[in-house]
Amino acid sequence: MSLGDIRHWVFDMDGTLTVAVHDFAAIREALDIPAEHDILTHLAALPAPVAAAKHAWLLEHERDLAIASQAAEGAVELVRELAGRGCRLAILTRNARELAHVTLDAIGLADCFPIEHVLGRDEATPKPDPDGLLQIARAWAVAPGEMVMVGDYRFDLDCGRAAGTRTVLVNLPDNPWPELADWHAADCRALRALLG
Ligand SMILES: [Mg+2]
Repeated sequence: MSLGDIRHWVFDMDGTLTVAVHDFAAIREALDIPAEHDILTHLAALPAPVAAAKHAWLLEHERDLAIASQAAEGAVELVRELAGRGCRLAILTRNARELAHVTLDAIGLADCFPIEHVLGRDEATPKPDPDGLLQIARAWAVAPGEMVMVGDYRFDLDCGRAAGTRTVLVNLPDNPWPELADWHAADCRALRALLG
């Protein structure tokens, strides 16, 4: 199957459709999370009141970032091209759904992603768990093998592999995970060129 034949596209958001701005080291420091810990996994293991306070801090911090979001190179053109071809589009993000919508609005793509097809950390078990992709597959009534997951990090690729979708790595000059990515493009402009 060539990339141009795929009709069902799921995108990671931060660092994939936007320029990456999250300073995860600073977030860990502010929330007293050890450097080697995954942020969402760490918060999930805390007592509920502590976790709630830290989630609230995270939401406010990320809201500021969302409002100031900038589109990644070629991202708007790629998504508009796919929408124009009649492809179905979804977002699977470890960010919050509400902030995903703010972000997509800031880069001018909110109309391309129906809110029910924007899955955040409260709608699905966070990546690399395949839950979100499997939910989208059910909603679209397609086999995961007919879908592609596009992201800038190995969680996105692991998630795709676990769900059985095709995978694309973008926004890295080289591909550190060749066994996990079916396609690699240096940015969304290059990815659009792969559509043929
Ligand atoms: Mg990302």
